[in-house]
Order: sequence, then C-alpha cells, then structure tokens
Amino acid sequence: MNLTNSILRVDVAIIGGGIAGLWLLSRLRKRGYSALLIESEALGAGQTICSQGIIHGGVKYALNGKATEAAKLIAEMPAIWRRCLNGEGEIDLRGSLLVEHQYLLATRSPRSWLTGFLANKLMPGRMERLSGVDANDYPPALRQATFQGTVYRLDEPIVDVASVLAAFAERHREAIVLCDGPAAPSGDGAITLRYPNYPMLAIRPSCTVFAAGAGNSAVPWAPLQQRPLHMVLVRGLGLPGPMYGHFVESGDVPRLTITTHCDANGHLVWYLGGALAESGVKRDSQEQIRVARRELAALLPWVDWTKTQFATFTVKRAESRQDGGSRPMGPSVIRDGRTLAVWPTKLALAPLLAEQVEKMLRTLDLKPKPVDFRILDEWPRPAVATYPWDREEIVWS
Ligand SMILES: Cc1cc2nc3c(=O)[nH]c(=O)nc-3n(C[C@H](O)[C@H](O)[C@H](O)COP(=O)(O)OP(=O)(O)OC[C@H]3O[C@@H](n4cnc5c(N)ncnc54)[C@H](O)[C@@H]3O)c2cc1C
Repeated sequence: MNLTNSILRVDVAIIGGGIAGLWLLSRLRKRGYSALLIESEALGAGQTICSQGIIHGGVKYALNGKATEAAKLIAEMPAIWRRCLNGEGEIDLRGSLLVEHQYLLATRSPRSWLTGFLANKLMPGRMERLSGVDANDYPPALRQATFQGTVYRLDEPIVDVASVLAAFAERHREAIVLCDGPAAPSGDGAITLRYPNYPMLAIRPSCTVFAAGAGNSAVPWAPLQQRPLHMVLVRGLGLPGPMYGHFVESGDVPRLTITTHCDANGHLVWYLGGALAESGVKRDSQEQIRVARRELAALLPWVDWTKTQFATFTVKRAESRQDGGSRPMGPSVIRDGRTLAVWPTKLALAPLLAEQVEKMLRTLDLKPKPVDFRILDEWPRPAVATYPWDREEIVWS
C-alpha cells in the first residue's frame, strides 16, 4: 500500500462514529456528498452503545402533562425509525428491532398529572390502556394478580443498538475509518489520519462535522455539558422474563426505566435507568445496588430477587450546554465557518439531526461531488463497541 503523502479531498469529514455521525454519514452519502467518517475507538463507544435503545415518541417528555417543545420534536421519530426497521426507510435496519412497544406502568391510581398527560394532543393513538392481568395482555413480569397499577402500551419501539450500528457499518464500510487517537483538523483544516504501521494520510474536507459526543469538547466555540448516570444491570435465574417499560409516579422522570437485552451467552439482562440512575450518581456501586434491589422489591414484590446478580457503571450524556444544565429541547447544531459541532441529545433524534445538518450544508453552497475511496481500501475499520453487560471490567455481585 502506498499512502505516503497522500491526500484525500472530501466534501464532509465526520468526526465520531456514534449514532449521530453514522446517521449523518448515511444521509449525506445518499444525497451524493463524498463524506468520510473517522472514529478513534469503536462505533458507538461513547453513549450510543450504553443507551437503552428506546425510540421515544414524546411520552416520557410529556410526563408533566404538557405538550412541550421536546415532545413535539420527538413525536415523529418512532414512525421514521419504524420505516427503517421495516426496510422501507433511508437506511435498512431490518433485524435491529428488539420489541415493537414498551409500557408505561402507573403503580398507583392515576393522578391529575396522568389525566393531563392523556389529554395531551400528541398522545392519542400513541398509547393504549391495557385490560389487565386477567386479559393476559400485560408484560410477563406483571402477570400477577397482586399487581395493582395501570398499564399503558406505548407506540415506542426499542432497538438493538449494536445491530443498528452494525447495519450502518456494513452499508457504509468504505467511508468509515479508524484512527489512532482523537481526530482533529489542524490550522489549515486538514485532518491527519494515522494508524500504527500505516503511512499517514491527509484528509482535506470542504466541511468538518464534529459528531463526537464528549469528544466535541475539542471544539472551544461549542460548549458542552455532561449529565452523568449511574446505570444498573441485573441478570440471573430470578428474572421474570423480558420487561420494557417506565414505572411512573408524580415526577417528570420515570422512577425506573427497564429494558431487557441478551448478553453474549444468550442470557437475559435487565438494564435499569430513570430516576434511579439520575439520583444514583451520588452513590457508590454497592449503595446503588442496594437501592436498586429495594426499588425492584417495592415495584415487583412477587419476584424472588435472591437469585439475581447486580452490577453498575457510570456514563455521561454529552449535550450542547444549556442554561442551568437542563436537557436540550432537541438536537443541537452549532456552526463556525465550515466546521459544525452537533449532538442529537437522544438516540431517537439522530434522523432529525441529520436533516438539520443537511439543511445547513445547503446554505454553505457545498456542491456534492463523488470521490474515489479506493485509497482507503486497506485502512483499518472500527469494530462495533461492546455492550456494558459484556465488558470484562463489569463486576457482578
Ligand atoms: C445510559 C444512557 C441511556 C440512554 N438511553 C437512550 C434511549 O433509550 N433512547 C434515546 O433516544 N437516547 C438515549 N440516550 C441518549 C443517546 O444515547 C445519545 O444521545 C446518543 O447516543 C449520542 O450519540 P452521539 O453519536 O452524539 O455520541 P456517542 O455515542 O457518544 O458517540 C461519539 C463517538 O465519537 C467518538 N469520538 C470521540 N472523539 C473523537 C475524536 N476526536 N475522533 C474520532 N472519534 C471520536 C467516540 O469514540 C464515539 O464512538 C441514552 C444515553 C445514555 C448515556
């Protein structure tokens, strides 16, 4: 391979291969732009592989009973993702669906917030109240005569994030490269692609998009905020089958959000987020496990939790900085000349982010032009990141 002193000119260089960078890459290539994505670790290595894979349609965002701006923006996302999951959208994500629906579990009798919430204009058709234990339409973990709450089925699918990432990687392999260490443009805008034992290659983009999550901290004019979470994993014989849902009470963050995944050995893992993960950042792992056990025992008291194992890990959400550190309303796109810094804010919002970036590129008068990527044929490609529950450093107890 002779890459010494080689230069590759592209329309757009995308730095970061999480869901934001990958969806954008796919969109831009579809529109005829020559786009190259550069990843320094593994695809989804930041937040994406740690996400719960919920394609929110706004229900969680509308928990305060109001049709917030955030709820409106996200309302169309399940339909967009579903088209892709059915092989009819802009990227073929067939095989990446975990479940069609998740559940909203109101453990006490519906209060005023729920009345307002159900009256929300965004909600009709997006959720259905289920009949009950006797009708057998509850998720398996709730099929107990002792469950007293109200259960709604939400029109919000859950995806297998690793297969989503793999679908993008496979479809756009020639335009995704691995670099040794964080990629960054130098003063003249060129990005030097390095990898041990490979001759360096200069990428000269007309436009650069930082879609690097926390790695966007390299962009001084686009301040970010990081909101930590202390997530909990549960596995073992006691698990009462798959569960996907939010236990909600009076707050606007669910008390507990549960998704279910399969580990590398084919065993079920419950993945716990919600208020437990937000408040848990103040606790160490053992204390967080104690609180998680207490929460599960309170919400699902008929389950024998003694045969389950728990583990925890912390991860930070990376977003555009907001006043007071609140969650941004939607995706963020910040531009300085021909460099953009972007954050989707949610996995579900990646298609909307791609649309916003595409619109911005049109204002930059960037004419799509084809580029031959064969010079990169032998360059190393990033793997898909490992799920938290399959990582060696995770300690189960
Ligand atoms: C625990 C948790 C659960 C979540 N659950 C959900 C959910 O259920 N539904 C939902 O919609 N959203 C969810 N989210 C939010 C969602 O995961 C994120 O909004 C989304 O994944 C962010 O994607 P991203 O591509 O911007 O960043 P990331 O996924 O962080 O990807 C950034 C990538 O850039 C790479 N990188 C960084 N710096 C550089 C550099 N200089 N050069 C090259 N590469 C670089 C990193 O290695 C990484 O692969 C969750 C988030 C967390 C933390």
